[in-house]
Amino acid sequence: MLINSDSGIMVEYNGKRIALDPKNATDADLVFVSHAHTDHMHRSSDIGKVLASKETLRIAEARGFKYHNASHEPHPMFEMIDSGHVLGSKALLIDDRILYTGDICTRDRAFLKGARLPRCDILIIESTYGRKHFRFPRIDDVIHRANMLIAEMYSKGLPVILMGYPLGKAQIITSLFRHWKPLYIHESVARMNSIYRELGIDLGDDDARVYSIKDSDSLKHGPWLMIAPKQGNNSTFVKAMKKHHNAITIAFTGWALTHWHSRFHDYTLPLSDHCDFYELVQVVNACKPNKIYTFHGFAEEFASHLREMGYDAEALGSKCSILDYV
Ligand SMILES: [Zn+2]
Ligand SMILES: [Zn+2]
Repeated sequence: MLINSDSGIMVEYNGKRIALDPKNATDADLVFVSHAHTDHMHRSSDIGKVLASKETLRIAEARGFKYHNASHEPHPMFEMIDSGHVLGSKALLIDDRILYTGDICTRDRAFLKGARLPRCDILIIESTYGRKHFRFPRIDDVIHRANMLIAEMYSKGLPVILMGYPLGKAQIITSLFRHWKPLYIHESVARMNSIYRELGIDLGDDDARVYSIKDSDSLKHGPWLMIAPKQGNNSTFVKAMKKHHNAITIAFTGWALTHWHSRFHDYTLPLSDHCDFYELVQVVNACKPNKIYTFHGFAEEFASHLREMGYDAEALGSKCSILDYV
């Protein structure tokens, strides 16, 4: 049974209502928070019993999402499985039958291992890049391309700002490009890096300096590298960096493969924390589900591709749905 609802994806199983990454209030028996990106979390601290990894709960708290009734303890009916998207991100396996991926990436990147998901009966899978157009290059090729670009800018005496989402991508690029000196970490990235460190991830940025907007005069002249939150060339921050330092921006995102994205930054490189289309298909083939629901991004297109492959697949509407299983 499929019923539209405002509160995200809801699974009814054995008389229990399980809300998956709800953004609005729900009457669920259990709320599962797959990871600490803000589009997967609910602002209210009183949303009932929350299940999430200990890393997700810590990062969520640092971002102002503190849940009163949260647990990361193992449960016989609910198994949390690494989803390889950001630190602490999990997929949820309900009673060995229903698998919800949350956001997922199957590639190893720096300190993060790609996801390996089990077989299941019903698969609820994200489809952010669920269109054939999205085939990401090898990570090593992207790293090589970035290092060549940085070297070229250094040889011209120009500083470089590497950009990614402050939670997840920014820590990957800190780890991958920390060998460039002098290294600055933008304060909002530094806050998240220090939580990663507290959670046992060594990003190797101990000798980096934290860049604070209040203290913008502290930047050296000549080439340097900064890790900063992703923002366009018309933002106040980037405008100032270009005016005073001739800085060059390189953004890391899967959307680099679209034409429209490249105009926001000097360079965009396709490094993603999600599966590309072909990796999503691999996940589906490995899970061998009897029924598939797709959500996020190209949900309709991905479901229709899976149907062509012979799967029973359908897209969940943007308002999301209640899935009822006995
Ligand atoms: Zn995410
Ligand atoms: Zn997401």
